[in-house]
Amino acid sequence: MKLGEPSFRGTQLLKWMYQKRVASFDLMTTMSKPLRARLSAVFAIDKMISRATVESKKRDAVKFAFECIESPHYIESVLLYDRQRRTACLSSQLGCGLGCTFCVTGKMGFIRNLTQEEIVGQLIGINDYLAARNDKPVTNIVFMGMGEALSNFEQVRSSLEIIMHPETFNIGGRRITISTAGVIPSIERLMTENLNVGLAISLNAYSDVERSRLMPVNDRYPIASLVEIAKRYFEKTGRRVTFEYVLIAGITDTDKAVAALEQLLNGFPCKVNLIPINPYGDPLLQPPSERRLEWFADELHHRGIAATIRKSRGQDISGACGQLAGGSR
Ligand code: SF4
Repeated sequence: MKLGEPSFRGTQLLKWMYQKRVASFDLMTTMSKPLRARLSAVFAIDKMISRATVESKKRDAVKFAFECIESPHYIESVLLYDRQRRTACLSSQLGCGLGCTFCVTGKMGFIRNLTQEEIVGQLIGINDYLAARNDKPVTNIVFMGMGEALSNFEQVRSSLEIIMHPETFNIGGRRITISTAGVIPSIERLMTENLNVGLAISLNAYSDVERSRLMPVNDRYPIASLVEIAKRYFEKTGRRVTFEYVLIAGITDTDKAVAALEQLLNGFPCKVNLIPINPYGDPLLQPPSERRLEWFADELHHRGIAATIRKSRGQDISGACGQLAGGSR
């Protein structure tokens, strides 16, 4: 809809909405009163409110439960503190249809895709939280919350346009990572968008038999095809792909796993993030000991594979990987 205003008004509007995060057009005081009245008559600003904000004991993570505007559900998002970084872990779907066995979101099944407003709304809410504590706004974004981001491609892509815009959040592709269970057609599409965002592929197993057991999506997009697309992503974007690898005692932390990962990934510039599984009650899916974890990382290093152990923040608030469950009101 055209309002017949000069283009700098659009820039002002972006700043009020996304940088100052006002809840009403009346508060946009750099605009004339008649213009504010016209905007209020045509549009509304609906801010998502977090109904439950829980801070971790270590003060390194905060979990939010944002109330959806368009349906009676909650969207969970997490803020992670790491020295100067403020990372927002955003959700892209309510529930998830991919059904990974270790993931609480997957157990909800797929409810619906989030809209652009709901994705960006999480970031606005998190920045409100930080501003109320005189802290700086979010510096980094990861799409690792509820849902498979690349199965909601359109809304995630249009959210990124807002998030990356210099007059809004101004967060560049180098500080954004999209995590995927490996939806290959969407990765191919992402490569053509020139967004320059980082890609993290949840590998989690070294054999197709094991990966299909943990992640049924593997039946469609098996491990060899993921490694192949990761290589192409690197060639096209120059960005090294991260493979997320959940370590489960006795299942994915074995000697055989190290040898298989070496065969799969060696000689190709990528990173491996080792994530001890967050225990959620299943006695068969437990994290390895600290010693075994370090052993696993060292073995990969010796074989020329860059591996980092990812500290799991937010575990005590059920805000760590695979623990977000949302819910409805
Ligand atoms: S791990 Fe990711 S892709 Fe798998 S079920 Fe959970 S949210 Fe979906």
